[in-house]
Amino acid sequence: MTPDEFRAAAHRAVDWMADYFETVADRPVRAQVRPGDILAQLPDHPPQAAEPIDALFADLDRIILPGMTHWQHPSFFAYFPANSSPPSVIAEMLTAALGAQCMSWQTSPAATELEQQVMIWLRTMLGLPDGFEGVIQDTASTATLCALLSAREKATGYRANVDGLSNQAALTVYCSRECHSSIEKDVMVAGIGRENLRKIAVDESFAMQPEDLEQAIRDDRAAGKTPAAVVAAIGTTGSSAIDPLPAIAKICDRHGLWLHVDAAWAGSALILPEHRYMIEGIERADSFVFNPHKWLFTNFDCSAYFIRDPDTLLRTLSILPEYLKTREGEAVRNYRDWGVQLGRRFRALKLWFVIRSFGVAGLQERLRQHIDMAQRLARDVEASDDFELMAPVPLALLCFRYRPAEMSDETQIDALNEQLLESVNDTGATYLTHTRLNGRFVIRFSIGQTMTEWPHVEDAWRLLQRSARELGAQLAS
Ligand SMILES: *Cc1c(COP(=O)(O)O)cnc(C)c1O
Repeated sequence: MTPDEFRAAAHRAVDWMADYFETVADRPVRAQVRPGDILAQLPDHPPQAAEPIDALFADLDRIILPGMTHWQHPSFFAYFPANSSPPSVIAEMLTAALGAQCMSWQTSPAATELEQQVMIWLRTMLGLPDGFEGVIQDTASTATLCALLSAREKATGYRANVDGLSNQAALTVYCSRECHSSIEKDVMVAGIGRENLRKIAVDESFAMQPEDLEQAIRDDRAAGKTPAAVVAAIGTTGSSAIDPLPAIAKICDRHGLWLHVDAAWAGSALILPEHRYMIEGIERADSFVFNPHKWLFTNFDCSAYFIRDPDTLLRTLSILPEYLKTREGEAVRNYRDWGVQLGRRFRALKLWFVIRSFGVAGLQERLRQHIDMAQRLARDVEASDDFELMAPVPLALLCFRYRPAEMSDETQIDALNEQLLESVNDTGATYLTHTRLNGRFVIRFSIGQTMTEWPHVEDAWRLLQRSARELGAQLAS
């Protein structure tokens, strides 16, 4: 591709993107294809000869788009959002054009120093303590792995990295029963072992019970284990429960445990002062993660990891072979030592574009709108005769279910809601997902896509009600 050909094709790509944003609301939210449908349209062999860009654009529209689930659709209410925005997309294109590998300061000083500064901006925006230092990771899963590795090294006097874990007393890690699956995976990857992850009971709001945490730590100590870390969730994935940080912090203090705070989704809401109550006690935390790629208009992937004492992280992860040594040595920040991977993308650029384009006030306004819509929907659900909320709604995630008055068999209610969810998603008009709370099937309605407005929420809610009553009528007849 010549520079002129690139210019023409890239302009065309930008037009494609602008058209996509303008028309995405007309597409089915969840892809309406069957397994294998896309694969069947892809040739068995790569082309031997060069193909024109026209052919690629044509197949993008013909083959790929129908097989996409549209996360940037304003009626996307599944999982948690992965909301993007035009400034973020622009910066991501620029990052690709620069094509820099930002592993150390020298390999792109601006990438390192911009990352330092935008992480300070984020720290201020969220109201995190001044001492916390930030680094961008790909995902919260990776950030939590870094936290657990640091905790592991601290608990073993930095011996696990040298000798492995076979000579160590078993380490134990604690989180609530509602914690994200990534905690369990990270415990496995860190060599701590799934059997050594203690899932602590939760209260009626699905938040961790600190007395049970205290007891579990004592029991493990008595059994000769080495309690190493607690992962507290600010906004669990199931129902956005908020673990009681002050009580958990006190317990970590008393027992000398690493305290990692997983605020992957809810962390964005901390830019709103009225929600800072969620991190009361954060000064005692050792690390904190949240994902701007979930609810802060920065396209996937971008996870912000903050640590109180970066030395622990550096002692855990830095390695300096000859070929990576640079003249600046210790005088500069080399982010390759702040995570698992060596090579790093220039992710700070999109955060910089997003924060500057929206302004903090613009970001706050949009988040408040999402939360207001969720609170309004929560009132409508509560007011309805045959739907019920199944968990508190502190932010912008609702968990509820359909429950016709005449139905009392829990298994039957579960099956009905499962059917309801499928029938709604099959229309393509909206996309919702589910979880189980106390064993019961509940529908999750998560509001946070960049373009979502109240009519999108209301349409989805009406569709749910209509479909529910149709299903209910079928059952009754
Ligand atoms: C989404 C989520 C994660 C995992 O995030 P990734 O960035 O996909 O690894 C972890 N914890 C919580 C609470 C989440 O909601």
